[in-house]
Amino acid sequence: MDEKDNEIKKLKTEIARLKKMVVKDELTGCLNRRGLMGEFEALFKEAQYARHHGMKRKIDIDNLSVAFVDIDNFKHINDTYGHSIGDRVLKLTAKKLRDSIRGLDLISRIGGEEFVIVFVGASEDDAFKKAEEIRKSIKGICFMPDNCEDLISIGVSSLKKSTAFDIMDLIFMADKAMYEAKTNRGKNNTVKYSEIA
Ligand code: GH3
Ligand code: MG
Ligand code: MG
Repeated sequence: MDEKDNEIKKLKTEIARLKKMVVKDELTGCLNRRGLMGEFEALFKEAQYARHHGMKRKIDIDNLSVAFVDIDNFKHINDTYGHSIGDRVLKLTAKKLRDSIRGLDLISRIGGEEFVIVFVGASEDDAFKKAEEIRKSIKGICFMPDNCEDLISIGVSSLKKSTAFDIMDLIFMADKAMYEAKTNRGKNNTVKYSEIA
């Protein structure tokens, strides 16, 4: 291999590294908003195609569910323990979420203390069960004094249970259900969009 080939190989590696950076959130390693939109759009198209053509696969990919996860009282954690502990809570929460999902599922940090999970081949009930498991497993993962706990509220929505037209619809529905969990149910719980639609 001559010098030119070597240079091209190096550039290709660098481009691949930069491409990854563009779609990832630096702090948590989850997809960022841009990364989520790209990958979710592809999954959504595949799900729609499978639905219209009645295709049967090992995983029921014609259904997609979204969980919108928001850390409770995160501002209080930052204000009480400082921004770097806040960052640590974000990292640990992200790790727990990432470790809880399957290979085809997506996990993204789409805002400060807000995460979106896409469950592939999951009904709204499946997503609700999974979200509840995750919510319970988050409790206590970050040690903080004075009984301050890391808790989360979650909203779930699904393609089959709704009339979602596109991925933004599904995310919006899950966000709305999460808002219900925060405002009317006292936080630290999970709400299905179909309950409030
Ligand atoms: P609620 O229980 O209703 O969700 O309230 P909250 O305090 O969790 O939500 P709020 O929107 O009031 O505060 C979110 C805070 O998250 C405010 C912002 O400064 C902080 N934040 C956003 N991005 C980051 C980050 O990258 N690191 C840290 N440490 N904090 C962040
Ligand atoms: Mg929030
Ligand atoms: Mg919050």
